[in-house]
Amino acid sequence: MREGILIIGAGGVGRVVVHKAVQNLDTFKKITLASRTLSKCEQIQKEVDGKIDIAQVDADNVEELIDLIYKVKPFMVLNIALPYQDLTIMEACLRTGVHYLDTANYEHPDTAKFEYKLQWAYDEKYKQKGIMGLLGSGFDPGVTNLFCAYLQKHYFDEIHYIDILDCNAGDHGYPFATNFNPEINLREVSAKGRYWENGEWKETEPLEVKMVWDYPRIGKKDSYLMYHEEMESLVKHIKGLKRIRFFMTFSESYLTHMRCLENVGMLRIDEIEVDGCKVVPLHVLKALLPDPATLGERTVGKTNIGVVAEGIKDGKKRKVYIYNICDHQEAFKETGAQAVSYTTGVPAMIGAKLMVKNIWMKPGVWNVEQFDPDPFMDELNKQGLPWEVEEL
Ligand code: NDP
Repeated sequence: MREGILIIGAGGVGRVVVHKAVQNLDTFKKITLASRTLSKCEQIQKEVDGKIDIAQVDADNVEELIDLIYKVKPFMVLNIALPYQDLTIMEACLRTGVHYLDTANYEHPDTAKFEYKLQWAYDEKYKQKGIMGLLGSGFDPGVTNLFCAYLQKHYFDEIHYIDILDCNAGDHGYPFATNFNPEINLREVSAKGRYWENGEWKETEPLEVKMVWDYPRIGKKDSYLMYHEEMESLVKHIKGLKRIRFFMTFSESYLTHMRCLENVGMLRIDEIEVDGCKVVPLHVLKALLPDPATLGERTVGKTNIGVVAEGIKDGKKRKVYIYNICDHQEAFKETGAQAVSYTTGVPAMIGAKLMVKNIWMKPGVWNVEQFDPDPFMDELNKQGLPWEVEEL
């Protein structure tokens, strides 16, 4: 009998998923955490008083994953490792007939480009096997998709314009550090910007477009247009859409450091030879930067991530802002992780909870906005990520 969840990845987000899953043990019954480094699993196991099982796995290796899944016999696997592992974990789930969930879309280690194509290609095979894959159940992607679906369901007949606004006003006291995996973060931020308008994608230079947005309970912040993966599925699933953009805040200090590192070649993802050793500059940088999992204790301030939608309701124009505010220190007190990990880990747990409870369950590969948003939105309020709606 298949029961419980197998969480793969014991980083900042994995820690939150475990803590929140343990809070919902009546739903999950049995929790196993597996990662490449067993000591990281042991640490998290201690934090939750031994209420989880742990295992070591290399999630790049499909056969190892299959062996682990047969051993643990979970109802589903939560992929909280890195986007590089999406396809191997999806493949292992397919071969063992176990449901799948993740928080970030596939990216090849050698190309800084993420897209859903290869994951959506599993749809037919998952349908035939009778298993479900839920893609992008974090905050953005994840909750931002559900904010759009919720507004579409309850506030609009048609949404024409969407701006996703992601502000992290947390201060960790370091001159430069990233709030989640430095490699993934820096690849994303240094990439070209992209948004969708009138049926086509438009490209900008990296961080070329800037606006100032007044984030509730944070204040005005410089916000930069970036490409972000939730737009790829939202343009398919939000009817009547004319434009969608994504903005993220960065401090001057972060940007100056990043540009300098980029200019000297430290963001390169190709191999170079140094004193006879082959190294990837971005991997060296990752090794030097603070581990995001250790930032929790020293990070103060809040995040505010939300969606501004404009459209038509009953023949009249309407503009609505929906957002969540999360406090870094409160997140840390509850789970030992800062708000960026918290806002990702809680929705991953909620997605899994809805699947385990058979509330969101249909064979195939889906993005979160393809399900009824209401049960997820209710859980957000109960599980530590309450949201607010304002008419603008
Ligand atoms: P971390 O780097 O802190 O953690 C990743 C974990 O995955 C590490 O413990 C690492 O193990 C493990 N891992 C990496 N490769 C393998 C492998 N081959 N086999 C087994 N385990 C492996 O990252 P975060 O916790 O910050 O992020 C986790 C995921 O969440 C990422 O995919 C990220 O893109 C996503 N994310 C999504 C967001 C959203 O809102 N949707 C926002 C933020 C993050 P080890 O330490 O031993 O190397």
